[in-house]
Amino acid sequence: IYGEQAIIGRVDGNEFAILLPAERAPRSPDDLAASAKALGYEIDVGGRSIDVSFSCGGAFSQDGAADESFNDFFARARTALREARMSSADHAAVFYDGDLDRRERIARTLENELVHALARDEFFIEVQPKVAMNREVSGYEALLRWRTTEGELVPPGVFIPIAEANGTIRTIGLWVFQEVCKLAATKEFQARGLRISVNLSRQMESGTLPDMLAKICLDSGADPGQIELEVTESWAVKDFSRGSGMLERLKAKGFGISLDDFGTGYSSLGALVRLPVDIIKIDRTLLPLDVADNVDAQKLLGATIDLCRAMGREVLVEGVETEEQFRVLAESGCDLAQGYLFGKPRPYEAVPGAAEAQEKPSTLVSQAS
Ligand code: C2E
Ligand code: MG
Ligand code: MG
Repeated sequence: IYGEQAIIGRVDGNEFAILLPAERAPRSPDDLAASAKALGYEIDVGGRSIDVSFSCGGAFSQDGAADESFNDFFARARTALREARMSSADHAAVFYDGDLDRRERIARTLENELVHALARDEFFIEVQPKVAMNREVSGYEALLRWRTTEGELVPPGVFIPIAEANGTIRTIGLWVFQEVCKLAATKEFQARGLRISVNLSRQMESGTLPDMLAKICLDSGADPGQIELEVTESWAVKDFSRGSGMLERLKAKGFGISLDDFGTGYSSLGALVRLPVDIIKIDRTLLPLDVADNVDAQKLLGATIDLCRAMGREVLVEGVETEEQFRVLAESGCDLAQGYLFGKPRPYEAVPGAAEAQEKPSTLVSQAS
């Protein structure tokens, strides 16, 4: 593909490097991806065809920079390669630019900070109301927030994947659960029959999880029936019998189970029907802003709600922002709604019972695994 002047070497297991003179080099990541595609998606090994795809990273040597070492040059290509590997596309290609280094540095710094965040008391919880179709608040969802020592608010979409990757989510998740139990145990919550839900990561799953959660709940004086555990389809999809077995055990402890972000995953309906969940939370991507004028969106949403109800589950729709959206939902037979229309996530202090809950000590839960 690149001609006689190309030098090709094998760097490591399935990693290869190609060194090219600048005039032969691909001009853009798309060019680079195109040359990988030219190799095809299948290779023949001893008569058997094997699917292949390449992730490609490219870097240019700094022309004329006399002090540039080959190792630095090569390291830049590998940084680009790591970024390409994170892409879900087949034959993804990325060219190195200074921003990649910066992003890698930020991720590494966050990872280091995250390990200390719990001890430094940098996490807090916000709660968002869930309402019945008569707009009465039936409960709340607890959403984790992180304010770093520098006062920066890091979005959960950024730090939770890091915490999941390095395992700290187990300790952090138990801390969130403990805070939620304290709230559920307040007189205010109990008198009003309010429920509260908490998101569980699949990385928190372990043989001892049901016992651990049951003990934290019991110690706090909360009733497991007030607490819902939100899990995503990936709990079941990875390994159905294990995932659904875990949910059965959590249910047996008295907790409610919600299936979060329904409609965004790829699991078979057959598997979903057999999952022991009480509530299905339909993802907000199924509720576009223009749903009131969008017949196709209404059909899809209506059919999804009917399906969930036919399976005997309660149905909540997420991300309700406007009255028009709510009107469509009211006609569609869903049971619960959640979204900015009824309240954005607010600091935990704003919720009934918070003052009482805050008087209780936080025994920092360690030993998560
Ligand atoms: P999720 O569980 O699906 O939470 C709902 C997300 O939608 C929240 O984002 C919430 O602020 C946002 N949202 C609620 N209503 C509306 C609306 O009307 N419009 C729009 N555009 N958005 C709305 P947030 O707080 O950024 O959380 C993102 C995700 O992070 C959560 O998605 C959940 O998967 C995860 N997460 C949050 N807290 C925890 C936690 O304690 N543990 C774990 N494992 N994951 C958590
Ligand atoms: Mg959730
Ligand atoms: Mg959700």
